[in-house]
Amino acid sequence: MSDCLFCKIIAGEIPSAKVYEDDICFAFRDINPQAPTHILVVPKAHTANILDASDLPDATLAGLLRAIGKIAKAEGLDKGFRVISNCGPDACQSVNHLHFHILGGTQMSEKMA
Ligand code: AMP
Repeated sequence: MSDCLFCKIIAGEIPSAKVYEDDICFAFRDINPQAPTHILVVPKAHTANILDASDLPDATLAGLLRAIGKIAKAEGLDKGFRVISNCGPDACQSVNHLHFHILGGTQMSEKMA
């Protein structure tokens, strides 16, 4: 999508701190990190959020989860990490391109919201 921030990052039109890329997804460091490690994992194909996940092939959805695991291992998050996908206004989704936050590198709160 031409006006989508994450599509522009994937295309290299906007710079990012890339940590991983394969045929299915692209991952980069969040510009406003909320944990010592804060990475965004996004599908290369545009879809708004989990509500529209049926727009994507099953192989893409599976590939995203596999990529999250690979990235967490490569980042040394062996003591644990959290994966969040904000969906819609109540969850404060600010970029309407499906993405998963990987948060780690610290002991996190038991409270999730
Ligand atoms: P969300 O609020 O769940 O939609 O997450 C969007 C995330 O994108 C936020 O955590 C932002 O800090 C992050 N973000 C926005 N612009 C950029 C950018 N240019 N590079 C990296 N991360 C960004």
